[in-house]
Amino acid sequence: MRIEKKSDTVVGRFAPTPSARLHLGNVLSALLSYLSARAAGGKWLLRVEDLDAARCPFMGENTKWLLDDLAWFGFSFDGEVLYQSERADVYETYFNVLREEGLIYPCYCSRAELHDAARAPHRGDGVFLYDRRCLLRAREGIAPPSGKKPAYRVLVPDAIVSFTDGVQGAYAENLERDCSDFVVRRADGVFAYQLAVVVDDALSGVNEVVRGNDLLSSTPRQIFLQKRLGFATPRYFHIPLLLDAAGRRLSKREGDGCMESVRAKYKTPGLVLGALAAAVGLLPSPESCTPEDLIALFSWEKIPRGDVLLPQGF
Ligand code: GLU
Repeated sequence: MRIEKKSDTVVGRFAPTPSARLHLGNVLSALLSYLSARAAGGKWLLRVEDLDAARCPFMGENTKWLLDDLAWFGFSFDGEVLYQSERADVYETYFNVLREEGLIYPCYCSRAELHDAARAPHRGDGVFLYDRRCLLRAREGIAPPSGKKPAYRVLVPDAIVSFTDGVQGAYAENLERDCSDFVVRRADGVFAYQLAVVVDDALSGVNEVVRGNDLLSSTPRQIFLQKRLGFATPRYFHIPLLLDAAGRRLSKREGDGCMESVRAKYKTPGLVLGALAAAVGLLPSPESCTPEDLIALFSWEKIPRGDVLLPQGF
């Protein structure tokens, strides 16, 4: 009898949303996901999260720059680039699985109503607790507004989802109380990030997700969807946010940390990578390096949990 050994090859990925030119915070996610996968002899995939291409006229241009910026740094990815804008039929299949499980309901609330429908103040990450008014109305037999296209929400249980993040440690959330039913398909038909990310990671065989700490609180929702869809849960590493040398958030408006200004200023990628590596403790001080140079120096134990600062002058 042949025993199938489960593959333990690390499959990591970088999954930016090209709504703007790449930013040094994104580059740090690219770098750490790349190093973690490569240090383990694994694969590193690239997925362009251009779901909202119709609404964002610069997606195409930004995507070209994204590929150019990654090549400039010397990041090499495996396989074909996956474009979310081409995968609506795939998301639809899994949306229908959730629907058949009775987990999906239409929500006709307008922006103003949603404000009203919040059971509690918004959380820091912009999530508010929806009071399920559209579900309750439907259960009472109240007809939905005619001619209005609904968004679709997934019904979450009163249950705790917990996981151990490789950087941030234990994290838990009660889906109903801390998050409530969330949108998986918008009223314009576009599938939401939470569903697309889960489907794509699973179908691509991704078993390691490295991304910014601002997405930590999305993870319980994604684990819930994985369980409902019969997908495995990857290992998660939510990395520190990158601040300027004075501890301020890099401001997109002022172009801080935007690859356009970074490339104009530094001309070559080595010092930029060195600055990022020093910010997260992979190098004692910023010095010019390539992604390959950093593979042997990489270990998750070195990566701090809290925000990190760029060196002076960046
Ligand atoms: N597309 C998301 C972003 O650029 C990241 C998604 C993820 O890594 O799960 O913020």
